[in-house]
Amino acid sequence: MDYDYHVHSTYSDGSFLRWMVRAAERAGLGGVGIADHCNVSEREPMVAAKRDHGFNLDLTYERRRAAIERVREDAAIRVFDAVEVDYDPRDEDAIRAFLDEADFDYAVGSVHAIDDLNVQVPPLFEDWSEAERRNLTEDYFDALVALIESELFEIAAHPDLLERNPELRGFATDEHYHRVAEAFERSRTIPELNAGRVLRDGGAFSPHPEFLSVLREYDVAVTLGSDSHRPNEIAPRHDRIREFQEESGLELVELNV
Ligand SMILES: [Zn+2]
Ligand SMILES: [Zn+2]
Repeated sequence: MDYDYHVHSTYSDGSFLRWMVRAAERAGLGGVGIADHCNVSEREPMVAAKRDHGFNLDLTYERRRAAIERVREDAAIRVFDAVEVDYDPRDEDAIRAFLDEADFDYAVGSVHAIDDLNVQVPPLFEDWSEAERRNLTEDYFDALVALIESELFEIAAHPDLLERNPELRGFATDEHYHRVAEAFERSRTIPELNAGRVLRDGGAFSPHPEFLSVLREYDVAVTLGSDSHRPNEIAPRHDRIREFQEESGLELVELNV
């Protein structure tokens, strides 16, 4: 039975919680994790960004927890109370304090920003030189390794997020992949096979094949997140995931929750 550890609800940028759970049931999953975005940084640009987006899980997780408990009453599958936290090495203390207090079923960690710049927003990097993009790539992988070594998270989401941005794509090297794989080998944190883009933009999984094969070289297990934001994304993404599992022989691990 497949578990999807990464979907979003209206507590961040997804759809109604109950719709997401119903869609996960219809997709034949064994369980679904509601992992809404959360940022606990006190730096001004990050505070402004969460205001702009209306990402308030640091304030609303108890309400969401009550909603999850209600949906569990008649859900045919397991429903996890999770979180996708923006990771920056400078926020480690704040993240640790928040996770200790909130006590989620598990936590997903994501490097979405470098120096408080969201790396998923293409026009931002248009005027950057190749050297600057290369440096940003270094910083991204440094942050990812720090995330893994922090031991704050059960899951590290979409480990090659830069590939999603055409302006930052293609700078990652085999050496980066080996560094990350070595960090995962030593950590409790499990990388995610993220299916957020499998039905568009050329249909790539994150990590993409070269990165995934380095992780497999190190026997690093991988867990699954469809990163769905809408109910109708869940079943088609899982159809593609099952196909990919058959093609690749990849085994997906379940969390101990
Ligand atoms: Zn993410
Ligand atoms: Zn996500």
